[in-house]
Amino acid sequence: MKKFSGGMWSVKILTGGKVYLEGKWQCNVDIVVEEGKILDVAPRGKYAEGEVIDVKGNYVCPGFIDIHVHGCKGRDVMDGSVESLEVMSEFMAQHGTTAFLATTTTHGREEIRKSLEAVGDALHKDIKGAQILGIHLEGPFISPNAKGAHDEKRILAPSRENFRGLVGDYEGIIKMVTMAPEAEGARELVNYLTDKGILVSMGHTMANYEQCMAGFEWGMTHVTHLYNAMSPFKHREPGAVGAALDRDGVTVELIADLVHVHPAALRIAVAIKGSDKVALITDAMSATGMGDGDYILGGLEVVVKEGVARLKDGGNLAGSTLTQDQALRNLVLIGIPLEDAVKMLTEVPADIIGIGDKKGRIKKGLDADLVILDEKLHVNCVFIKGIQIQS
Ligand SMILES: [Zn+2]
Repeated sequence: MKKFSGGMWSVKILTGGKVYLEGKWQCNVDIVVEEGKILDVAPRGKYAEGEVIDVKGNYVCPGFIDIHVHGCKGRDVMDGSVESLEVMSEFMAQHGTTAFLATTTTHGREEIRKSLEAVGDALHKDIKGAQILGIHLEGPFISPNAKGAHDEKRILAPSRENFRGLVGDYEGIIKMVTMAPEAEGARELVNYLTDKGILVSMGHTMANYEQCMAGFEWGMTHVTHLYNAMSPFKHREPGAVGAALDRDGVTVELIADLVHVHPAALRIAVAIKGSDKVALITDAMSATGMGDGDYILGGLEVVVKEGVARLKDGGNLAGSTLTQDQALRNLVLIGIPLEDAVKMLTEVPADIIGIGDKKGRIKKGLDADLVILDEKLHVNCVFIKGIQIQS
């Protein structure tokens, strides 16, 4: 056991909480943290020497992981600035998010490259907030007929050359690519990306059911914001929505701000896929945490009114102003069990991007990323790699 040294305990013991362990709440355990990792999850009182932190009956969850977020607090990944990423990280941590994929939008090659550079630089910095895990490249290989709030003029045909030309030396930090399966060349690009170990997600697509199933065969394993910006479910043509719900093993994202998707559609998706195949994401844009007003998203003008972001031109929904703690409360509000909602914010996204052995669970040896929630599910405090984030 580590002793008191240099004025600080090197071991923290979180005690007195309802701890989320393997889908259930456990009351009689302590979480022992050392050097940023979970050293042990032990019966209460087993470890005595260390800084004891009494969480007073509150919920203790793994840190939330957002695999689809563009911006918040007036900043955007497309700013191409390390400082913007720092502001985002700090804000997200206040809302329970301890790690995220910085998500780009369909934009010019130079702008995308600049944002990749900034994320590449930020990965080498000690950022005081949610940890950046890499890039989710949303577009530019999408359908002009399901562009959502992406700039149609910037859409590129899917090909290995276009991808490599776009990302250059930054291929190693791309963890996920959202693309449409129906464009010519999509198969070649899916094969290239999966060979490189990059997760390929189906999204911003008007593909029919068969085209989507072909995409899954090629190696697309995930679906970006199910229901939004994709061919809808119809009983004679089940579309991308039907394909995503029908295909076993494929994971899906949901934007649970209760604006992008009707509560019934959220419940249907969770009921069909199961809570172990759904990731709650925010798709948040820069207005998040800022209030109503005029903003820019991916070079396009956006108006936020009563928390709902829409393109000035045409009125398409343009990303959300959601935070992950609010997503949790929303799901509970519409009748999803709390334990399922926690799973969809933690272990599912961790598993989807292949870091389930490092993050997403309260388990010996994993990063000590923890969120303490009060009984109303508001964030009480957050630990990232064992360090308490000051709010
Ligand atoms: Zn998005």
